[in-house]
Amino acid sequence: MYKKEKIFIVISLVAISVLVYSFLKTQRHGFAPMQRLKADSGQRIVMGTFAHVVAVAGDLETAGKCIEAAFTEIENVDALMSGHKSDSQICAVNRDGAKRAVKVSEPTYKVLDRSIEFSKLTGGAFDITVGPLVDLWHAAGEANSLSDVNTITQARSKVGYEKLILDVNERTVRFAAEGMKLDLGGIAKGYAIDKAVEAMKLAGAAGGIVDVGGDIRCFGRPSEVKKYWLIGLQDPWKAQNNIISKDYILVLRLTDAAVATSGHYRRYAVIGGKRYSHIIDSKTASSSEKLASVTVICKNAVDADGLATAVSVMGREKGLALIEQIPDAEAILITPAPEFKRIQSSRAAQYIE
Ligand code: AMP
Ligand code: MG
Repeated sequence: MYKKEKIFIVISLVAISVLVYSFLKTQRHGFAPMQRLKADSGQRIVMGTFAHVVAVAGDLETAGKCIEAAFTEIENVDALMSGHKSDSQICAVNRDGAKRAVKVSEPTYKVLDRSIEFSKLTGGAFDITVGPLVDLWHAAGEANSLSDVNTITQARSKVGYEKLILDVNERTVRFAAEGMKLDLGGIAKGYAIDKAVEAMKLAGAAGGIVDVGGDIRCFGRPSEVKKYWLIGLQDPWKAQNNIISKDYILVLRLTDAAVATSGHYRRYAVIGGKRYSHIIDSKTASSSEKLASVTVICKNAVDADGLATAVSVMGREKGLALIEQIPDAEAILITPAPEFKRIQSSRAAQYIE
């Protein structure tokens, strides 16, 4: 063997040894890049809708535990705030709130308090005391006939967030009028999602996504190679006509953000062949048809959820003006049929693929 070749082999061996040594050293000291494994819950039914959770962690066992922690939180929130479970705190307030001040847990109080803040911020467009009008909407859908004016006027008189009395020191809730009824359908999902994300982080998730009925929050990154979570926005026209398609109107690219969509294509009553949205404008006591869909992106899901419902009631001009005022909140609106035109807030483009 030539001298030059020998030198080359020796240099190569030294280089390889240095590489192997540095690799072993980083392994021993834990400096190796963190392995990220993903667990996927598949679709489950919670809060009367479909939910889907993905967790990213260093090992599959942890990722699986993060998923269960998320669902436990979502179920806990539902047990407290459901309007259908007779033993929930919201049902207790609805039963007894006009007779006495009802004590509630901290999470329930927090959501009620945030709801009142949203009512003040939106000039009453967002109003969790809308319960009596939501009941009429259900009854009208079942009877396939609109309620009469007197019934609507009477229900309307029992609605109004200013008639909801919260006592922060006692942590109690009371109604100022007989027949009032709370409905947290426009905000509780968002709160549950935030609690689920908190629980996942505590359980060791490096990243994840929580989707409850199309309201979503994501954190961390989906994988070592992917930085953003991609979220498709459904075409309201296709959804309304039950066309199942992955042909989204746009795809959002998010990391550490929440997104909520409100729209009458999601839940509606058909009365006399016409669709009526489940979102109610409490001022006019009628269902809100100003927009086909409203998507709000912001830091946390409770705000995204509340704002999406509020903007649905406020409509295009007032709704967008509100979003422009709120730092870190963006919105994408789709106007009603037949136009289905897309309008968006000034900085929404940064999230669109
Ligand atoms: P979302 O899908 O988040 O927009 O919530 C819609 C649900 O919120 C409805 O099904 C009702 O339970 C409730 N809701 C309807 N109208 C209002 C309103 N004006 N303010 C707050 N919640 C409402
Ligand atoms: Mg909402």
